[in-house]
Amino acid sequence: MPKKKEKSQGEQLKEKLLYKKKSVFEKCEDERQAELDYAEGYKKFLNNAKTERDATKTAIAMAKEKGFTEYKFGQKVKAGDKFYYNNRGKSLYLFIIGKENLEAGIAITAAHIDSPRLDLKANPVYEAGGMAFMKTHYYGGIKKYQWTAIPLALHGKVVLADGTEKDVLIGEDEGDPVFYVNDILPHLGRDQAAKPLGSAIEGEQLNLLSGSIPFDKETSEGIKLNLLRLLNEKYGMTEVDFQSSELCAVPAGKARDVGLDRSMIMAYGHDDKVCAYPEITGILSLEAPEKTVMSIIADKEETGSDGATGMKTSAFCDIISDLAKTLGKNERKVRANSLCISADVAAAYDPNFAYAYELNNSALINCGIALCKYTGGGGKSSTNDASAEYVARIRRIFDSANVVWQSAELGKVDQGGGGTVAKFISEKNIDTVDVGVPVISMHAPYEVIAKADLYNMHKAVVAFYTA
Ligand code: MN
Ligand code: MN
Repeated sequence: MPKKKEKSQGEQLKEKLLYKKKSVFEKCEDERQAELDYAEGYKKFLNNAKTERDATKTAIAMAKEKGFTEYKFGQKVKAGDKFYYNNRGKSLYLFIIGKENLEAGIAITAAHIDSPRLDLKANPVYEAGGMAFMKTHYYGGIKKYQWTAIPLALHGKVVLADGTEKDVLIGEDEGDPVFYVNDILPHLGRDQAAKPLGSAIEGEQLNLLSGSIPFDKETSEGIKLNLLRLLNEKYGMTEVDFQSSELCAVPAGKARDVGLDRSMIMAYGHDDKVCAYPEITGILSLEAPEKTVMSIIADKEETGSDGATGMKTSAFCDIISDLAKTLGKNERKVRANSLCISADVAAAYDPNFAYAYELNNSALINCGIALCKYTGGGGKSSTNDASAEYVARIRRIFDSANVVWQSAELGKVDQGGGGTVAKFISEKNIDTVDVGVPVISMHAPYEVIAKADLYNMHKAVVAFYTA
């Protein structure tokens, strides 16, 4: 047998001093099956959580099954109690009271459950060219051309004049009709093809094709009338009721595996359910944690985190201050000692668009979750920039739990930028850092993630809650 060659001094020094990104295949060889199994639950969740309303409802059902009860401001609490606070059916706070003094701080994770889509306008229905359409106003950052010529489903709620609430869901069952945004045929697309991609489809062209049969041949606007008749039969609504509705057109259909090895998932709304789901499974897996833990799934991140259900809402601090008051603690101390992971997706390096990324500082799929010290844009503007001390603390937590992670930023400097809820939590005097799953084609109607990264997000959340 030839003797194994000794490593050269240079090689040894390299191993000691240089950082080398490792994939899940190098670090966690025995977890392939666990990753695939975990992804099955995630796909089910995704199919039932396309909008913030759907996700909140689904998460509450999961939490109730694990003994969580609805939190009411001012109520008594004790160690081991598990609560959910439902903010208007669109955002959710899950928390477990720890054994430790609340003033030691809360371990908080915050993801969002709203995703880019097309919302119906208040007066959406019109008729043109022998077709009925519904006008939309896009929600969040979309590439408008991607939303044409794909099947769309309608999710949401209509509140009738007398206050009756009707849940709307059309387009998800195999037998359901879907909606569709028309595009111009390439044969007549010369003018469109000459336009910059960003204006090839305009916002006012994102109209949902919704019908083509008139009520009768005499009545004017008969196709529109027929559409409203069908909606009236199904939901008891009339045209004016659109004005008190929230109806969202989202890509129809279910999450699908991608690749012959089934290593990836294509679905609508990975951003940010791919972090929200691990938060939920993470907190639901705990019995009686030492620390008080809180899992936030927020709304309105895609439009700036405003409003009562966005991360800027005072509901967040109200819950903390209410808990502190009930337990006779100082809420300022509670916040100052709390720690947060802002759980939101990262841009996965894409070799098809390599020019937009700086490889050394980009997230690769199957290399675990991405830790982003800062997000924002330009000269690090509009971001929470986590401190070296806090990043070191999070590193230690992840490493001790064998979580596969990598550091990343959002593409090349000055290529663009983006934000998360991190800055709205850290401004409350809470150390916060962004951690999330790398996503391919973020904000496209169907995005792609790797199952291994998803699984590591779950491991990370559990490690963080129990550190
Ligand atoms: Mn996001
Ligand atoms: Mn987003």
